[in-house]
Amino acid sequence: MTNERFLRQSFLGESGQEVIGRCLVGLVGLGGGGGHIALQLAHVGFMNYVTYDADFAEDSNLNRLVIAIEADVAAGTPKVEAAKRRILGVRGAAHVETYRCRWQERPEPLRACDLVFGCVDSFAERRELEACCRRYLIPYIDIGMDLHQAGDEPPVMGGQVILSMPNGPCMFCLGYLTEEKLGREAARYGAAGGRPQVVWPNGVLASTAVGVAVDLLTDWSRSLRGPVYLAYRGNDGTVVPHPRLVHFRGGACPHYPPDQVGDPLFKRL
Ligand SMILES: [Zn+2]
Repeated sequence: MTNERFLRQSFLGESGQEVIGRCLVGLVGLGGGGGHIALQLAHVGFMNYVTYDADFAEDSNLNRLVIAIEADVAAGTPKVEAAKRRILGVRGAAHVETYRCRWQERPEPLRACDLVFGCVDSFAERRELEACCRRYLIPYIDIGMDLHQAGDEPPVMGGQVILSMPNGPCMFCLGYLTEEKLGREAARYGAAGGRPQVVWPNGVLASTAVGVAVDLLTDWSRSLRGPVYLAYRGNDGTVVPHPRLVHFRGGACPHYPPDQVGDPLFKRL
């Protein structure tokens, strides 16, 4: 049955499909973006998952949360359980670990992952997640969408997919994270309210991220080399290499030096 199932993606190669099946994938955030990713990974053939989300399905999520239905809102289903049910519906033999908490409260399972997807809300969360992945030499894929509106102009919808590889340029190197952005976010923390989130950009970003992951694991395109920083432009429906990547000059990442890996060492005073 399994061979039959993946017939139409046999260009990934037998070994490629095996690598996908063996990969332990971490999913942090199972909202609008993470839900799409979970679902797609199950179809692609991923078998081993570590999932984190502290939230429950709510009515205000149903505009975008593809893993949940109205009954989940009524029952208050945790998002990690909604994702697990969806994954097991496609891959009954999959192994799905669910953590209904922030990953920082149970970091050990995340550190064991071969690949981590981050679908989180804030720059600060992204920085922490990337730092953890760097320390444990885990490729990290970040997605997010945003909507900006100035004056009477139509809103501008954007988003990003970033692949941050150990030893490669990080999200600071690529200019996606800056101290200024982090500072501004910290200053308005708690006052901003919920940012706009809708289903279709999350679908594009999640699909793009899954594509990056599959290519990373199987090398089917033989062209995924170097950093990935893709910019989604919702107003014209395009995904293109971000201008900052085009101008990225390369060089070693100064933010996560190669000697700072593994468990942090604590010195006895
Ligand atoms: Zn860096």
